[in-house]
Amino acid sequence: MTSAELDRLERGLVSGDRRSLAKAITLAESSRGDHQNDAQRLLERLLPRTGRAARVGITGVPGVGKSTFIEVFGLYLIERGHRVAVLAVDPSSSLSGGSILGDKTRMPRLSAAEASFIRPSPAGRTLGGVTSRTRESMLLCEAAGYDVLLVETVGVGQSEYAVASMVDFFLVLMLAGAGDELQGIKRGILELADALAINKADGDNVRAAGRARAEYQAAFHLMRAGASWEPPVLTVSAQEGSGIGEIWDAIVRHRKQTTESGELEKKRSHQQHRWFWTLIEQGMKARFLARPDVAAALADVERALAQKTLAPTAAARRILDLVDK
Ligand code: GDP
Repeated sequence: MTSAELDRLERGLVSGDRRSLAKAITLAESSRGDHQNDAQRLLERLLPRTGRAARVGITGVPGVGKSTFIEVFGLYLIERGHRVAVLAVDPSSSLSGGSILGDKTRMPRLSAAEASFIRPSPAGRTLGGVTSRTRESMLLCEAAGYDVLLVETVGVGQSEYAVASMVDFFLVLMLAGAGDELQGIKRGILELADALAINKADGDNVRAAGRARAEYQAAFHLMRAGASWEPPVLTVSAQEGSGIGEIWDAIVRHRKQTTESGELEKKRSHQQHRWFWTLIEQGMKARFLARPDVAAALADVERALAQKTLAPTAAARRILDLVDK
């Protein structure tokens, strides 16, 4: 990309043109070397404009109501003058041949809104690859003036930890009465949560939702005794649009508290530092494995391992000795 083209893309993105933003994200997601270079040049220029958004992660099992909630929540925020970007992290997308997260057809009203930007999960074989790209997309969205970023992920596996490590506030959506096991709600997920929302608190479900709310609030009270933030447990109905404002209130309260105490700044620096090291680890591994001598030696060593003529420690050492060659 020439300097003039880059200028034009930068100007378009900063002025809030959605097509420029989409194009920049496509560059950042590309594995082509020249695209990566362009994306990095662009990000470097835009860096001073980043960091101002409220970064919110949202998770929950399929069917909990994530897309219904995000649509209603996004529209609520837009009504209050915010600009909302929805990104997704779904490392399984390359296996299933397409991401169901961040699909615009799941949020038709929100995607039609002028002040929204919705982007499906980047494809990628590894969670690390997907999350790196999402982090860069977040920065691009911030530079484009989106002041609330919603990062959606599915309620299974490692992707929740990954998303929690790139946001300021992590919201877990749940259902009442479905049983913790069924919902894959493990203690670990509760430890990541900054708030819990019991969705579908409508109709016959209102009382069960209220009970679940009290139980989880008591659990948090024990788990986070002495912590500066006790995650609120709220009931919502994405379908009826009730309880939505309370969730935003909790996010704003958390933001104010962690900004004043310096915790937000600390959390973000820590996240950046972790991201930096993850990139180094990934990059070193990829470059090392791409060397022809390493590839050849790996084939030999893997064969020896399979035939049990070499122990794993000796096998690893043989490969690692190549680092110095
Ligand atoms: P996702 O898989 O987590 O994105 O869940 P969806 O947003 O697709 O919702 C799954 C189903 O639950 C859909 O049939 C929704 O209409 C329904 N649903 C979502 N939110 C609510 C709610 O607040 N109340 C009720 N009763 N149904 C809901």
